[in-house]
Amino acid sequence: MGAGAAGLATAIFLRRSTPARSVLLLDGARSPGAKILVSGGSRCNVTNVAVSERDFWGGRSTIVRRVLRALPVAETIDFFREIGVPLHEEAGGKLFPDSNRARDVLSALLREAAAVGVTLVTGCRVTDIVRRTADTTDNARFRIITSRGDLRAHAVVLATGGLSLPKSGSDGAGLAIAARLGHTIVPTTPALDALRLAPSDPLHRALSGVSQEVELAVRIEGAIAIRLTGALLWTHFGASGPVAMNASRHWLRAQIEKRDVSIAVSFCPGEQLNGVDARWTRLAGEHPKQAVQTTLATIVPSAVATALLDALAIDGRATLAHFSRDDRRRLSRALVEWPLPVAGTRGYQYAEATAGGVAVTEIDPATMESRLCPGLYLVGEMLDVDGRIGGFNFQWAWSSGFAAGRGLALQPPPGIPSA
Ligand SMILES: Cc1cc2nc3c(=O)[nH]c(=O)nc-3n(C[C@H](O)[C@H](O)[C@H](O)COP(=O)(O)OP(=O)(O)OC[C@H]3O[C@@H](n4cnc5c(N)ncnc54)[C@H](O)[C@@H]3O)c2cc1C
Repeated sequence: MGAGAAGLATAIFLRRSTPARSVLLLDGARSPGAKILVSGGSRCNVTNVAVSERDFWGGRSTIVRRVLRALPVAETIDFFREIGVPLHEEAGGKLFPDSNRARDVLSALLREAAAVGVTLVTGCRVTDIVRRTADTTDNARFRIITSRGDLRAHAVVLATGGLSLPKSGSDGAGLAIAARLGHTIVPTTPALDALRLAPSDPLHRALSGVSQEVELAVRIEGAIAIRLTGALLWTHFGASGPVAMNASRHWLRAQIEKRDVSIAVSFCPGEQLNGVDARWTRLAGEHPKQAVQTTLATIVPSAVATALLDALAIDGRATLAHFSRDDRRRLSRALVEWPLPVAGTRGYQYAEATAGGVAVTEIDPATMESRLCPGLYLVGEMLDVDGRIGGFNFQWAWSSGFAAGRGLALQPPPGIPSA
């Protein structure tokens, strides 16, 4: 159930390997694949040239690695080429369809699903799945309760996504079903979400629309938990762009764990306070008559230079020769460690992914079959795995779908789903 990226992949790969197997794909939405359509700015960042377990958080890295290996990137590219969606590479190794149209990705998946004989039923919401006792003559292990009546099936795949973008049809109902079937749900939070900053932050409103390369340091209980680099986009509400969105899940996880968390920006990625300070001293020797503001605008975008100097109450017209040691040190520190007063994130309506979900230790990574409920398979975003921005979440959907398709193909002969 769930005809998003992971459900479609599972159904296609299962039918491709065992055409005799009857596959019924149910989706609560009238038009499935809404997230594929909106993804990557409607261009769909299908995957990335280099994907490894290090691109994911949550879960357990050895399990993530095994699942990714089921369908590596090269084979994913081949698969999309085969179904008429050649991909090309862009900055950061991101792979997009040559047509730059997410609609083409979804259409090709739906076309391939139909071609291999998947029966897709839309507008059919699953409200529960109940295990049946083994006495049945039809060999169906599950009763599937849907908005359009009950079904029976030998095996069931849960591919209902997480909680992000609930209007797409992914609202966490599948997680509740997994929990009722005995699974542990690692508490969920939005992931890949923009950061809301407190009104006291002097930068974001002044800089709304400005983008720059930065490094974010996420500190938990005083120690640096992770450093992330990339583009930060200042907005009227706070900070967005890939680096802020990647940071969001770390901030939110610490919050739900009630741990002290803070995020600081370095406008000079990879540099230390002493190095930046020494740079100012050197520049003062080389260009004593140059204004502080002019010099700062060679390090950060000009609008950021103005906003930083305003926030620090430093006169940017002063020449480097007259730049006081105290102001120089304050500016150097601000450049490497500018605290972001994070007030929260924008929430599931805006988040591109969900952190948390079904505990992956309860899944066999070779087949995606539940270790607790034989015949139940779980794939995609509903698992406790979330990737960073760059095509990784879709790769997780394709790879876990492939592994499940392969696993289901190995199942002993099933009963036939019946209405
Ligand atoms: C705005 C946005 C942009 C994104 N861009 C990218 C990108 O460019 N690259 C990338 O890698 N990732 C991107 N992502 C993340 C990516 O879209 C998801 O990780 C991926 O779609 C998850 O696939 P899934 O099949 O597991 O879940 P989903 O895509 O959420 O699909 C779940 C399906 O299950 C159905 N469903 C849910 N509950 C039920 C039920 N009870 N009964 C029946 N059906 C049900 C839903 O209707 C839905 O069709 C983006 C996400 C968003 C929100």
